[in-house]
Amino acid sequence: MEPYTEDIAEEDVLEQVSFEIDKDAFQGPFTCHGKTEKVSKQLVLKGITFPYESWQCGQCKKEFLDSQQAQELEKIWLIEKLLEGKMIHFDRSVNYDGKAYFFRFPKEFTNHWNQDMTAHVELLRANEFLVKVE
Ligand SMILES: [Zn+2]
Repeated sequence: MEPYTEDIAEEDVLEQVSFEIDKDAFQGPFTCHGKTEKVSKQLVLKGITFPYESWQCGQCKKEFLDSQQAQELEKIWLIEKLLEGKMIHFDRSVNYDGKAYFFRFPKEFTNHWNQDMTAHVELLRANEFLVKVE
């Protein structure tokens, strides 16, 4: 639906960071010029430091992510988009049914949903959440 589309240039989001994500290899160590070593790194976004781990080649310094590391980093990139106001967003009133608070998702987002789906919620900080519905 048009109202919810937005141009997000990939280079704006990823900036100077690039990684090799091998979809077939779920576990390190990976092989580059030799075996990669697990290293602790950090990304600083808007003054907030996010620690992450990757596998790095000692010779060319190329970084590789296993599937768990990739998930962690994807989360950091989502938070980066959030901090930069680049997320597609909508406002809804919060309703109260006498027992619980809830809000409704716009129909445009829920066309392919079914009743067996689960919402996974992560608390970012007070009153701020990341919600994944699958
Ligand atoms: Zn290498």
